[in-house]
Amino acid sequence: NYSFNNKVALVTGAASGIGLATARAFAESGATVVLADINADAVNKAAQDLVANGFQAEAVICNVASLDDIEAMVKHIVSTYGQLDIAFNNAGIQNVLAETADATAEDFDRVMSVNLRGVWGCMKYELIQMRQQGNGVIVNCSSLGGILGGAERANYHAAKHGVLGLTKSAALEYATRNIRINAVCPGLIRTPMSEKMAASGQKEALDAMVKTVPMQRQGGPEEIADAVLWLASDCSSFVTGQSISVDGGLTMR
Ligand code: NAD
Repeated sequence: NYSFNNKVALVTGAASGIGLATARAFAESGATVVLADINADAVNKAAQDLVANGFQAEAVICNVASLDDIEAMVKHIVSTYGQLDIAFNNAGIQNVLAETADATAEDFDRVMSVNLRGVWGCMKYELIQMRQQGNGVIVNCSSLGGILGGAERANYHAAKHGVLGLTKSAALEYATRNIRINAVCPGLIRTPMSEKMAASGQKEALDAMVKTVPMQRQGGPEEIADAVLWLASDCSSFVTGQSISVDGGLTMR
């Protein structure tokens, strides 16, 4: 267990799945957690649950595809708490299935606007504050899709590859300024997103993929949270610009 006492941690996409599990883990480790999500009802409920259990948490409604929303969110955090120590840029949407010759620009742009530009926008405003305060840790959520190709999923895979490019580039920029930036690459994780994919005709593909996982199972969102907390803690103080795959070994061959 880590101690994040007196730290302010922002988690985007915190109303569900990996983000929710990570927000909970940060709260349980002493952080003040800002849970950000586009789903107002769900994120309000998530924050209320944490507060009811004695943790420090607050919900902020934010669409990460909107730079104005992100700027307002970070301004709110700084004016409320005076600092932003940790950010987990996790909000994401699932792929839109189509082979490349049939894909539409609208679908491509929609996935990019959340899964890639959303991460960039969050990093931009988080780094304005972290640069000024002289410390910070950012963890971005990529995917096994950031490592492997995915037939009929080029939009999602291109975005997740891009997240690793953003991570390495910003890590280089801030390496001497006490700001570390890393990424996690979740494998097949049981969350509402993967359940929705299974329900939308991708169940067979998912089942077939689980069979190729060396550990022969899906992961739980808490197993991603464990890696994010390590990357956000001083236990990874010499680690920057890296991505950690938490995938039961799926991408090792
Ligand atoms: P999820 O659907 O359970 O949760 C995603 C959350 O993000 C939701 O609460 C949703 O409301 C929020 N969100 C969506 N669009 C948003 C926007 N524009 N602004 C703010 N919030 C928004 O999904 P999950 O499985 O927990 O996925 C979390 C992250 O992990 C995503 O980036 C996803 O690509 C990545 N990932 C998931 C898996 C998996 O198997 N589940 C695997 C690899 C990577």
